[in-house]
Amino acid sequence: MPFNDLPAGVLTVLVVDDIAATRRRLCNLVQKLGYCVISAKEGKSALALFEQAQPDIVLLDLLMPGLDGCEVALRIKALAGKKWVPVIVLSGLEGEHHLLAALEAGADDFLRKPTEPAILASKLKNLARVLVLQQQHAALLSKSLAVSENSFDAILVLGSDETIQGLNLAAERLLQADRGVMLGRAVRGILPNLAFGQAKHAPSQGRLQQLEVLPLSGESIPVELGLTCFHQAGEQFWLLILRDVSERQRVDQLKQQFIATLSHELRTPLTSIIGSLKMLQSPQFAFVDERASPLLEMADRNASRLLHMVNELLDLNKAAAGALQLELRPYSVANLLGEVVQVNLGYAAKYGVSLQLFCELDESLVICTDKMRFGQIMSNLISNACKYSPAHSTVDVDASITSSALRIIVRDRGAGIAEDFVPHLFEPFTQADASDSRLYGGTGLGLAISRQLCSALGGSISYQAAQDSGSEFTVTLPWGGRG
Ligand code: ADP
Repeated sequence: MPFNDLPAGVLTVLVVDDIAATRRRLCNLVQKLGYCVISAKEGKSALALFEQAQPDIVLLDLLMPGLDGCEVALRIKALAGKKWVPVIVLSGLEGEHHLLAALEAGADDFLRKPTEPAILASKLKNLARVLVLQQQHAALLSKSLAVSENSFDAILVLGSDETIQGLNLAAERLLQADRGVMLGRAVRGILPNLAFGQAKHAPSQGRLQQLEVLPLSGESIPVELGLTCFHQAGEQFWLLILRDVSERQRVDQLKQQFIATLSHELRTPLTSIIGSLKMLQSPQFAFVDERASPLLEMADRNASRLLHMVNELLDLNKAAAGALQLELRPYSVANLLGEVVQVNLGYAAKYGVSLQLFCELDESLVICTDKMRFGQIMSNLISNACKYSPAHSTVDVDASITSSALRIIVRDRGAGIAEDFVPHLFEPFTQADASDSRLYGGTGLGLAISRQLCSALGGSISYQAAQDSGSEFTVTLPWGGRG
């Protein structure tokens, strides 16, 4: 709100003067300036009116019978408590000492009698300006307090000494303790593993950590924590937002159990159906009517696809639960890659694509890995590359080694991946185009599984657009060096 637009009408001024003519004159002046006016003719009734009407500003005559201005100013300040109610004392007396005494008793300003209307107007305007600012500030404060108190997340404010300096209702609930008990306590008592890390050096940064919080009573609770550093009056503070994730973890666990049970229950009958279909297609069953063979092939193809999907779901589930069992053994990198390419030649041929392996690594160069999982990652990447390549093009598999890592790049010459899909590439059940699953099969799980497998093997996987056109997936796996 602009300052020259102050809502003087909403402010009430209490005029206190024992001389009726002066009181009337002051009241008229103040009213003309647009303020609401109430008045009293001596100290005692002024105090009663102050309590009852709660004015915003007081104009107070110093020299009055009974309680004098100084005493009234003192009592008004006591009645107002924490609220600031400006008091302007008015005096026609010579000298300064009585004004000084009034200021010391708590008066905020003074005016000499007879009062100059322009000076009174300007003093009231200044005070009104401060009062309005104060009201705006208080409204803002109560709004942010309401937001913080009604937040579902626990909020803690820490000082630079890592003690708790503020907390909201949700934090009281999470920590199972009242504010009074928590204030001033060291945060390490409830969050022993809290890491300020780099956020300590950055001016203001939100960071997410998964932690356990130790309430004052009861068991530890898993939380997700956002950490932000801020400064106030040259001092550093920390804002901690804690979200209880115990319910989410419970639901995740239920989901994982559900997927695991369902996949197991589907896998057994599916394996037996596929076995039976394969037998029906074998020479042993040559007596089966020729006309049935396309139907058997279709049933076999679709059942195998279903089994592949069930297996992928199981893998993803196991990896997410950290329950993947790896069989780590030393293998020659060159032989491993040779085998992987060999296995995928047939698939590439189906798309009219040729596979090219660039591996100038010595056969004796060994990596300790899980052969089956390594093959699964590479086959996922190679089969994708073939699927999305134009016919007669080449898919490259390029291996190189640094002092600590083996790097394998699978590069195709397809159309590449749309920029807006790249951030979702490794998320489960995502495909760039909804028609992908119809055109090429697949479930949108391959890359999600590959990423989980890479990380289980201690490595990583990334995507970048190939230089001309096409996609480039890079798998990096740790390598122990040449021994
Ligand atoms: P899917 O089993 O459907 O292939 P993936 O997780 O392996 O699932 O791949 C997810 C999606 O990423 C694919 O559906 C496709 O849209 C895109 N994609 C993956 N690899 C390539 C590639 N080499 N070129 C173009 N698009 C690709």
